[in-house]
Amino acid sequence: MAWRGCSRLQLQLRRCLGDRQAWGRRGIVSCIDPSVGLTEEQKEFQKVAFDFAAKEMAPYMAEWDEKEIFPVETMRKASQLGFGGIYVQPDVGGSGLSRLDTSIIFEALSTGCVSTTAYMSIQNMCAWMIDTFGSQEQRHKYCPSLCSMEKLASYCLTEPGSGSDAASLLTTAKRKGDAYVLNGSKAFISGGGDADVYVVMCRTGGSGPKGISCMVVEKGTPGLSFGKKEKKMGWCSQPTRAVIFEDCAVPVANRVGEEGQGFNIAMKGLNGGRINIASCSLGAAHACILLARDHLKVRKQFGEILASSQYLQFRLAEMATRLVASRLMVRNAARALQENREDAVALCSMAKLFATDECFAICNQALQMHGGYGYLKDYTVQQFVRDIRVHQILEGTNEVMRMIIARSLLQA
Ligand SMILES: Cc1cc2nc3c(=O)[nH]c(=O)nc-3n(C[C@H](O)[C@H](O)[C@H](O)COP(=O)(O)OP(=O)(O)OC[C@H]3O[C@@H](n4cnc5c(N)ncnc54)[C@H](O)[C@@H]3O)c2cc1C
Repeated sequence: MAWRGCSRLQLQLRRCLGDRQAWGRRGIVSCIDPSVGLTEEQKEFQKVAFDFAAKEMAPYMAEWDEKEIFPVETMRKASQLGFGGIYVQPDVGGSGLSRLDTSIIFEALSTGCVSTTAYMSIQNMCAWMIDTFGSQEQRHKYCPSLCSMEKLASYCLTEPGSGSDAASLLTTAKRKGDAYVLNGSKAFISGGGDADVYVVMCRTGGSGPKGISCMVVEKGTPGLSFGKKEKKMGWCSQPTRAVIFEDCAVPVANRVGEEGQGFNIAMKGLNGGRINIASCSLGAAHACILLARDHLKVRKQFGEILASSQYLQFRLAEMATRLVASRLMVRNAARALQENREDAVALCSMAKLFATDECFAICNQALQMHGGYGYLKDYTVQQFVRDIRVHQILEGTNEVMRMIIARSLLQA
């Protein structure tokens, strides 16, 4: 019954994702099964996340993409499962889970819609930043409604003139009595215009990273406005806009951490953000391998199904190998971050670099295996390709990841 009214595309994806329940079929464990090696508890919430992705997201991902719908109610439903503040502490509404747990959940959710899951990962990152670096008042004021996604958050670092060189940002925050007056603009802000809470990095001091502070700016504050909604090749189920500050007075009580700590807070947020975004790429790659496998098994050319071609078998094997290697990198980095290890920053960068590049290559190869059909919007594979392309660009480009890794090596 549940299949009734589904488009061909939705059916195709549901069939594939439903297939995950067949991982253990006939005692055979698929070599790309993401539940292998997890604890029973992790398998439980992974299953919940996969079910949510298959039932609440996958059937709608094409429509959200096509009509640029921001599925706020669906995300709120996901938060009822604890996915709005996965690694936020429980006393302010979070789930108190680990970075590895978080990665497992985002990987599973993104099989249903990468773009929506990626926004949820930004929401989680903002909530974690306030939870970790905010005062008790700030934690209790903002985190509960962020964890339930009753309120939405945006992370505001990038500016028109400072992208990769984020520490050169120019948005100023000048102290005037009990307020900071903000002037400047942020570019490419995910959730911008729709979000209620803006976690903004701005300059309270001199040039360089030490002159940067972190502020929470609430929607509705006079002097806060937004640019037009950007038209994008992917991530279409979430809005992206410029965020503009014109003599925007923000109470001093909204400063997160001390003056000058903002860049550090922003980078700490991004360490987890990089694991989360890489996890979204893992989910996309996993879904695309299943889509490609199913296509190879039914499409006939030269009198045989494509799956009989050894060339295509080898490509499929490579895709699976690259996915498993990526997943190992991401989970290893998540553990390092959880343990607060010294190598965590470099490992998170390596995982983001490796997994987002490899998973894009996997999805692109899956599209190639579909031939011309892969290029049609009736087939889901193209949306995964479009949606994960940006993971190589944001949360620090993959060139910036190389800089961080090289710095860590050369400083040792
Ligand atoms: C859809 C989308 C959503 C986004 N969401 C957010 C958000 O919510 N919040 C936010 O703050 N930002 C967001 N961003 C911004 C994103 O983080 C930046 O686009 C990214 O950091 C790159 O900055 P840039 O676009 O200015 O590119 P540039 O910094 O101009 O870089 C251009 C190219 O040059 C390379 N490059 C730059 N310097 C060097 C160097 N020294 N050596 C080698 N290569 C170099 C870069 O890697 C890149 O390939 C988003 C971007 C997009 C597209």
